[in-house]
Amino acid sequence: MAVVGIIPAGGSGERLGADRPKAFVVCAGRPLLEWSLEVLDAVCERVIVAAPEGFDDGPDRVRGGDSRSASVRNALEGAPEATVAVVHDAARPLVTRDLVERCLAALEPGVDGAIAAAPMTDTVKEAAPDGRVLRTLDRRVLWQIQTPQVFRADVLRRALDRDAAALAAATDDAALVEELGGTVRVVEAPPENIKVTRSSDLRIAEALLC
Ligand code: C5P
Repeated sequence: MAVVGIIPAGGSGERLGADRPKAFVVCAGRPLLEWSLEVLDAVCERVIVAAPEGFDDGPDRVRGGDSRSASVRNALEGAPEATVAVVHDAARPLVTRDLVERCLAALEPGVDGAIAAAPMTDTVKEAAPDGRVLRTLDRRVLWQIQTPQVFRADVLRRALDRDAAALAAATDDAALVEELGGTVRVVEAPPENIKVTRSSDLRIAEALLC
């Protein structure tokens, strides 16, 4: 089994408002990307990073795509030997080795993908564009999806074999595997495994990492 790590780090991070791409912004003393790279390096045989132009030089670096999933596809193309792909966003520096290993362990026979997720704690409602509430969802069956997301690499390759619009519409890779009819299961993850999107997230991540 060749377990290869894939880190999409190709985003610009506009919402963060930094002077460089998000994955390269310093968080608790090192670039955001380094936190995830260290954890995946400990578990995977090789880790491929999809980075923006200007940051994509060096071994196991590829150019990011126009969307997150396009970046994942570019990185996976660089790892033809992979039988299992561990996809993890550079934007989630609080990932742990334990969480990656539990996702890998959940990839049992008959399962195509195992994805980190935290149980929903807020009440969730569906609303119309004018703000009128349409219905209240049952949060007992709802999960907030994170990364890492671990897949059988052949299934992920097929799932990512889509046009640019379909890749751009996917908010995670598991959705593309689900569209293919693949079996995906959730793996309970700590809510602290936050995604850094805005500057307030960066401050929270720094407080948790220090
Ligand atoms: O923008 P967002 O925070 O949702 O991005 C999630 C992850 O996907 C980040 O690590 C980001 O660098 C990566 N990404 C990418 N290529 C893109 C857009 C985002 O690798 N075109």
